[in-house]
Amino acid sequence: MKYAELTNYIGGQATAATGNRWLDVVSPTEGSLLSRVPMSSKEDLNAAVEAALKAFGGWSKMPIKERVQVFFRYKTLLERDIESLTYLVHEENGKTLDEARAEIEKSIELTEFACAMPQLVQGELLEVSKGVECRTERFALGVVASIVPFNFPAMVPNWTIPNALVLGNTMIIKPSEQVPLSTMRLAALLKEAGLPDGVFNIVHGDRDIVEAICDHEGIEAVSFVGSTKVAKIVYKRATSNLKRCLALGGAKNHLIVLPDAHPAMTASNVAASMSGCAGQRCMAASAMVAVGPVDHIISLLCDEARKIQVGKNLGAVISPEAKVRIEGYITEAEKAGAKILVDGRNAIVEGKEGGFYVGPTVIDYVTPDMSVAKEEIFGPVISIMRTHSIDEALAIENANPYGNAASVFTQNGGFARYVMDNASAGMVGVNIGVPVPREPFSFGGWNESRFGVGDITGKSSIEFWTKLKKTTTKWNPESRTNWMS
Ligand code: NAD
Repeated sequence: MKYAELTNYIGGQATAATGNRWLDVVSPTEGSLLSRVPMSSKEDLNAAVEAALKAFGGWSKMPIKERVQVFFRYKTLLERDIESLTYLVHEENGKTLDEARAEIEKSIELTEFACAMPQLVQGELLEVSKGVECRTERFALGVVASIVPFNFPAMVPNWTIPNALVLGNTMIIKPSEQVPLSTMRLAALLKEAGLPDGVFNIVHGDRDIVEAICDHEGIEAVSFVGSTKVAKIVYKRATSNLKRCLALGGAKNHLIVLPDAHPAMTASNVAASMSGCAGQRCMAASAMVAVGPVDHIISLLCDEARKIQVGKNLGAVISPEAKVRIEGYITEAEKAGAKILVDGRNAIVEGKEGGFYVGPTVIDYVTPDMSVAKEEIFGPVISIMRTHSIDEALAIENANPYGNAASVFTQNGGFARYVMDNASAGMVGVNIGVPVPREPFSFGGWNESRFGVGDITGKSSIEFWTKLKKTTTKWNPESRTNWMS
C-alpha cells in the first residue's frame, strides 16, 4: 500500500475514525492498492459538527476582507504544489496528468473568484421614506456540508470550499470514498494558509455517512454533486429535514451537428469532449445528433478517435465495475443493431495490465430507444443518432430527462440561436464540445441534472451559501409617523 490508512480531519487534526468498516482506494491506472479509507460512524460526524459549530462564531464574525486573506494564501499554495497535486489526482482518479493539471488550474480559478467575494457581497442601502433607511446584509448559514463525486477529486471540492468558507460558513466535506486522498491534501494546504481549526473538516464514508449528514440537526445546508439517483435521495432527505439543499446530478449531453459545421474543428471537438477524462465528466459529449448529410464529419471524428492513445492521452476509468458497465453498453448497442465504427472494448495498456482502460468508442446508427441513447454511460463513448432536421434533433435532446449541457456545431448564426433558445439544458455551447462556464459565470444544469434553486459556483453560489437580512432603521425622532412607524 503506497499511502498510510486515512484518518478523518476534525478541528484541524488528523482524527482516527471510529467506524469498523474500511474500503480500499485503488489506482485505476494500475489496479494497485493506494490506501484504505475508513467508513466513519455517526459519532465521528457528531465530533466534526461540534468542531465546526465551535469554529463558526469566530470565523463568521471575522470581516470578509480578513477571511479572504486565507484564500489568497491558499491560491498561492495550490500554485506552489500544482505538480504534486496533479500527480495525486492522476494517481487516485486515473485521468491523465494533463487532465489532472487542468483540474488544479481550475481550482486556482475558483479560488480567485472567491477572493473577489468582498467586491460582490456588499449590501444595499436606500432611504425608503423620510429618515427611514432599509439595508441588506448577507449572513453565513452556519455549518454546511459538501458531498462530492469521484470524477474531479480536487476541482469539485473547490467548487464549494472557497466560496462557502469565504462567505463565513464552516464546513464538513464528505469526499468520494473512491478518491479521498486529494481532499486530505487540500485540508493540509488550507491549514498552512492559516484557516482556523474547525472551519474545514473531513469525514470519510459512503451512503451511511451521507444519510447521517442529511439528518444532522447541526448542519444547515447540504450541497451534493454526483449521480442523479443519489442526488434525488440526498435532496429529498436533506430538504425533508428542513435543510437548504442543492444537488447536482448526472448528465446525458447532446451535441447537435449540422451539415455546415466546420468539419475539422467539429470532429476534434467532439472527439475531445467524448474522450476527455475517459468520458467521466458530467459535461462530456455522450450523444451526437447528426442532422442531414454529415458523413464527412463522422469519418473525421473516427480518424480523431483512432489517433487517441489509451494510457497516453486517454486515462483509465475509475474501477473494474465501471469498465464492465461501459463495455456492456457497447455490446448491448451492437446487439440492438447499432454499428460500432471505433471499438474501445478490451483495451490493454502495455506495462499497466492491471489498469481499467476503455478505448474511445464511436457508435453509429443508434436509435433513440437504445440504452446508449438514453442513459449516462460515463465512459469514452459517443452514440450517433441520425436525424433529418434541427427540430427532430432538438426533440431527441429535449426528451432526455437530464439537462446539463447541449451544444450545436454550425457556421450559421440563425441555426445556432435556434438551438440556444430551444435546447433544454442549463449550459449550452455553440461550436464548443464542453461548454463549462468559466468564473464568474455559474455552473449548473437543468431538469434531472440539478435539484434545488441556483447554481453551485459563480455569483449564483452567494445565494446558496448565505441568508439575507433586511434591516429598517429610523434615527430621526421628528420624522413623520406613518404606516412604517
Ligand atoms: P455517486 O452518486 O455514486 O456518488 C456521489 C457521492 O454520493 C459520493 O460521495 C458517494 O459516497 C455518495 N453516495 C453514493 N451512493 C449513495 C447512496 N446510495 N446514498 C447516499 N450517498 C451515496 O456519483 P459518482 O459515481 O461518485 O460520480 C459520478 C456521477 O457524478 C455521474 O453521474 C456524474 O454525471 C455526476 N457528476 C455530476 C456533476 C454535475 O455538476 N452535475 C459533476 C460531477 C459529477
